[in-house]
Amino acid sequence: MYQKESGWKSVDAKLKNRIYDFSEGYKAYLDVGKTERLACSEALRLAQAEGFCNLEEKKTLQPGDKVYLVNRDKNLFLAIIGTEDVEKGISFVISHIDSPRIDLKANPVYADGGLALLKTHYYGGIKKYQWTAVPLAIHGVVVKADGERVQISVGDEPGDPVLYITDLLIHLATEQMQKKAAEVVGGEALNVLAGSLPDGEAEKDAEKEALLKLLHEKYGITEEDFLSAELEIVPAYPAKDVGFDRSLVGAYGHDDRVCAYTSLRALLETEKPAKTAVCLLTDKEEIGSMGNTGMRSAFFEYAVALLLEKTGGAYNELKLKRTFRNSRCLSSDVNAGFDPTYPEVADKMNTAYMGRGVVLTKYTGSRGKSGSSDAGAEFMGAIRRCFDTNDVMWQSAELGKVDCGGGGTIAQYVANLDIEVVDCGVPLLSMHAPFEVASKLDIYMAYKAYKAFYAC
Ligand code: MN
Ligand code: MN
Repeated sequence: MYQKESGWKSVDAKLKNRIYDFSEGYKAYLDVGKTERLACSEALRLAQAEGFCNLEEKKTLQPGDKVYLVNRDKNLFLAIIGTEDVEKGISFVISHIDSPRIDLKANPVYADGGLALLKTHYYGGIKKYQWTAVPLAIHGVVVKADGERVQISVGDEPGDPVLYITDLLIHLATEQMQKKAAEVVGGEALNVLAGSLPDGEAEKDAEKEALLKLLHEKYGITEEDFLSAELEIVPAYPAKDVGFDRSLVGAYGHDDRVCAYTSLRALLETEKPAKTAVCLLTDKEEIGSMGNTGMRSAFFEYAVALLLEKTGGAYNELKLKRTFRNSRCLSSDVNAGFDPTYPEVADKMNTAYMGRGVVLTKYTGSRGKSGSSDAGAEFMGAIRRCFDTNDVMWQSAELGKVDCGGGGTIAQYVANLDIEVVDCGVPLLSMHAPFEVASKLDIYMAYKAYKAFYAC
């Protein structure tokens, strides 16, 4: 019989220390990488420190070479050239570094009731009410009329002020409390409180005027510059240990920076693999992998084509297709951990449990596997052998009970390219909440799994 129990039961003191130590580096990564741009630049910094060079600047590539390619500062391709021909297949681990959040609109600034506020449009699947009455930070870029790019980051440094979305006081919420959860806080109610000092000379909208003056003094930007900006509102608190025993990590953005960081670390610790090893950190997964930085972008094929050109001397389409056909991929994304408070949405026999290791998800989708890639039995078998021979603690799960809802990952887009692919990531509690929870054991086992995969 196939036994399943907490992975912690077979963790000795030495391994427990390694597991706890590993999560310290992960928490540090989360704290500096709260947006796709910041997560991308920090991953790039870590890779460069390990000797990764710009792929476009290398004329030729040899086995063991470490290269990177940055796509519009939001999407990072990292590769270590294998001893085998690239055409024999690549080992991809692909995660995403965008997380649900709240973006500023193009015309955000206004004043009302003696306050300066910012209009927003949320990004990804959120329970909107969870984002009110919590400290928020803002990160992003503004491109000015002359083309200069200004970086804005407020709320995450010690001593920084924070931003805020108000909630209706309970005393006057009689009507609001009768609403459905999806409507309790509307999309147009996610207005960010950004100041309250009026400008002494302004005849109207004095708080807006004062805020714009302050932003102009500090960043040299004007109201019109918001038209060419990407400014993201995220929770302002750092990652924290959760539980008296510190066995869990609570943070904003586990989905999916937990798989991004663990796969990055796995790649950085890989030396001269037989198969070329690639860690890809994508963007826009939370809104369907759209856009030129998402998984559906031709950037992915461009990066692999460059590897072929620089290792084999020439590129042709057949070579690229053969490479994909010989390749395999772990679509590294999170799954739902079993929550004993909400057991009704989980099939206890086919759900992921916190602390039982990394999760292999053969298929996702909803309403009868719709929209799923559904990995083949042969590929599942190969990954199973790889994990078992490398002491990776792993479990198998679906995303919730049949007909309870569902979800998708980038696996389907990878599968479209004729690549073997299966979802493999960390189970979470409160996925997509502003503070999600992961088990330190599962985080460490994801890292071990990706490292084993690169070597298998
Ligand atoms: Mn995800
Ligand atoms: Mn997600």
